[in-house]
Amino acid sequence: MKLFRVKKSNIDKKGRGLYATKDIKEGTKIINYVGKIITKKQTEESEKFNNAKPIYLFNLNSRYDLDGDVSWNTARLINHSCSNNCDYDGKGLKLWVTAIKNIKKGEELTCDYGFGYDEDYKQFPCKCGSINCVGYIVREGSRWRINKKFKVSFKKNPRLSR
Ligand SMILES: [Zn+2]
Repeated sequence: MKLFRVKKSNIDKKGRGLYATKDIKEGTKIINYVGKIITKKQTEESEKFNNAKPIYLFNLNSRYDLDGDVSWNTARLINHSCSNNCDYDGKGLKLWVTAIKNIKKGEELTCDYGFGYDEDYKQFPCKCGSINCVGYIVREGSRWRINKKFKVSFKKNPRLSR
């Protein structure tokens, strides 16, 4: 039995997500993250990665990237959360998704998309609804920068304060 099933997501209302079909222990490999292995040169020359949607592009090593934006990559449906219960893990040219917490049956599987903090972060709002949500999809190590901004804008927009 698979550890997950695909259904309509609570986070991405327009899209789908992966949900645990049973309790999953921390450290369990849940699904392989598959796609096309391409060279850095191909990444640089491709219009596709021209800053628009870097979500599915992984850096494998100094020579190769993995383009996970392919229909057979079910793991691409995993949504970002500021309190993610899974994370991407890799070795060599292989990538997979591992549980980083004990996950209960019925929970949506989530990862940290790991976007850096830059001028474009507002392109990617986060609707994960977790208590730690900073409102944008930015990797954990960079979120304090946004939290600081939130303190500044809090009075103008109390919705951002939760
Ligand atoms: Zn969030």
